[in-house]
Amino acid sequence: MTEEKEGKLIIFSAPSGAGKTTIVQYLLTKFPELEFSVSATTRQPRGNEENDKAYHFITKEEFLHLIAQKQFVEFEEVYSGTFYGTLRSEIERIWRKGKTVIFDIDVEGGLHLKRKYDGSALAIFVQPPSLEVLKERLIGRGTDSPEKLQERFIKAEKELKYAPQFDIILKNYDLQTACNEAEVLVKHFMAK
Ligand code: 5GP
Repeated sequence: MTEEKEGKLIIFSAPSGAGKTTIVQYLLTKFPELEFSVSATTRQPRGNEENDKAYHFITKEEFLHLIAQKQFVEFEEVYSGTFYGTLRSEIERIWRKGKTVIFDIDVEGGLHLKRKYDGSALAIFVQPPSLEVLKERLIGRGTDSPEKLQERFIKAEKELKYAPQFDIILKNYDLQTACNEAEVLVKHFMAK
């Protein structure tokens, strides 16, 4: 299938709990020319997450069907039995509007997109102060069962090792500072 005329992409990756979602949401309020890539997932909605805004919440059968139809640019079984993926149609829809796509995506997915769209993409790794702080944040969020938390901790430890493969490592030791730094990075990238 032929690709749309390529626009730009900004990828935020990090272990879960590092603060990337908050940073991405902050950037969306600052830059009207950015639009969030809504991923598809088979996980259940959490808290007040809205369908088609936070994610396209779909069944595993639907997800497998989309894989078979080659609708994903990338997808991962991020946690056992739970799939997440970026739809090609989502990127094309945003580019058609002349906007830049911004992603909140796991580390492997982020590197996958960076390799695929090298030259048009800015890939940022959000670094938490430490694994311990990350664990405290995930526990404090209070949204995951002890088993799910354990799975997130194990994955986070592995993901921290991938940081050097990204274009930029953004330290999130203080959320407002990290948001301000992210804003400067995005401003430079958009001006290029
Ligand atoms: P959560 O369940 O906390 O919303 O997300 C779990 C992880 O999956 C996070 O690191 C999130 O960024 C990542 N994720 C969300 N969408 C996608 C996607 O489309 N592809 C991949 N590979 N990871 C995703």
